[in-house]
Amino acid sequence: MTTRVQCRCGEVEIELTGEPLVQFYCHCDDRQAVHGAAYAPESVYPSDAVTVVRGGPKAWTLKRNPRFFCGQCGTRLFIDVLALGVRGLNGYLLPDGQFRAAFHMQCQFAVRPVSDELPHFKSRPARFGGSDELVEW
Ligand SMILES: [Zn+2]
Ligand SMILES: [Zn+2]
Repeated sequence: MTTRVQCRCGEVEIELTGEPLVQFYCHCDDRQAVHGAAYAPESVYPSDAVTVVRGGPKAWTLKRNPRFFCGQCGTRLFIDVLALGVRGLNGYLLPDGQFRAAFHMQCQFAVRPVSDELPHFKSRPARFGGSDELVEW
């Protein structure tokens, strides 16, 4: 199964192969700064399952992982998490109904807590190198 997504202006098109490994909302402080948002949705795939099929996204690096965006319209596209061999796609690029978050993470940094039925991890879930500790929202 493949899915194609685009930036807002259509300059960059990306093909996704298969299902995401995980989808979540991240509230970390890095994300707040680079997205200018309280939190952001991420849909994670094996790196080779996310292929740029049109256009040439621009990259910048905040700390160690390159982040890619459209040089024309500025849409945030994906981050390469090099240590894990995964690409985290901006979840809002997906067609309606295909972003279904399993949890919130990095809630210790939250500036705008969200009350919903999902787990709210203080850092990351244990299976992603965290502690499984939850916050009370
Ligand atoms: Zn664009
Ligand atoms: Zn984050």
